[in-house]
Amino acid sequence: MNRIVYVNGEYINEHDARISIFDRGFLFADAVYEVTAVIHGKLIDNEGHMARLERSCKELALTLPVSVDELKHIQEELIRLNDIDEGGIYLQLTRGSAGDRDFAYPKDAQPTLVLFSQARSLIESPKAKKGMKVVTIEDIRWHRRDIKTVQLLAPCMAKQFALDHGYDDAWLTEDGYITEGSSNNAYIVTDDGTVVTRPLSNDILHGITRKALLQLASEADIKIEERLFTPEEAMKAKEAFISSATTFVLPVISINDQAIGDGKPGPIAARLRKIYIDLALSQTA
Ligand code: PMP
Repeated sequence: MNRIVYVNGEYINEHDARISIFDRGFLFADAVYEVTAVIHGKLIDNEGHMARLERSCKELALTLPVSVDELKHIQEELIRLNDIDEGGIYLQLTRGSAGDRDFAYPKDAQPTLVLFSQARSLIESPKAKKGMKVVTIEDIRWHRRDIKTVQLLAPCMAKQFALDHGYDDAWLTEDGYITEGSSNNAYIVTDDGTVVTRPLSNDILHGITRKALLQLASEADIKIEERLFTPEEAMKAKEAFISSATTFVLPVISINDQAIGDGKPGPIAARLRKIYIDLALSQTA
C-alpha cells in the first residue's frame, strides 16, 4: 500500500513514517486510540468517538496536542488524500518518548499523534448474511476496559484462539458472565424480543455504536435491558449479535457450537443493522 498517513503534524507516505523506539506507546502500550467508520467519504458518529477519546485521555492524564476540530480536519484530509469511500480512520495518541525507558510518566515528553486510513467495504458484509460463530473464553484483560488503550494483546489472543478453533470471534467471560466480544459489544435477544446487553462500567468498553443502537432500539419500540447475562442464557437465547464502529451490527448464529434460535441470522439483529446503517447514511448526506 502507498497510503498518506499523518504523524505529528505531517502528512507523509506510510513508508517514510517514523516513531522513536523509546515511544511509550511502543514500550508500555501507554497510548489510546479510536476508530471512526467512513461511509461515502464521511465520518460516522465521530463526535462520540472524539468525546470518548477525550475521556480516555483524561483518565490517563494524556494531553491531546491538537483540538478536536483540528483532529476532524486531519481525519477529513486523510479521507481526501487517500480517496477513501468506505472504511475507517484509525487515530492513536501516545504519551510520546522520554528518550529512554522509565515507568514514571515523563514530565516534558511531546505526545505522539498518528492517524491512518483503512479502505474496507463495511455495508456489504458476508458476515451480515452468514452470521458469526463465537466461542466463549475467559476475560483476562485489565480492570479499566472503559479506557480505550492500545494494550490489546489479550483480545488478540482471544480472537486468534477463536480463529484457530474454527470460530469467527470470542465472547469474553468473567465471574460466569459475558463481558463483551474481543473487539465489540455483545447482545442477546430473549424469547419476548427484549435486547439484553451488559450495563456500562469499567468492565467493558463504552461502545459508541452501542450507545447509538440503544437509542435507535428504544425509538423503534424494541425493549432493552442493560443487565449481566451468562453464556448459558446466551446459548438458549432467541438471537445474539455484536456491535462495533466498523462492523455496525452482525448476527451471531452459534455460541460454543450451540445454534442460536434456528441457527440463522435473526430478525432483530437484521433490523438493528438496517436502522443503524440508515442513521449512518443520513450522516453522509
Ligand atoms: N468493545 C471492545 C473491546 C472494542 O474493542 C470495541 C471496538 N473498538 C467495542 C466494544 C465497540 O466499540 P465502538 O462501537 O465504539 O466501536
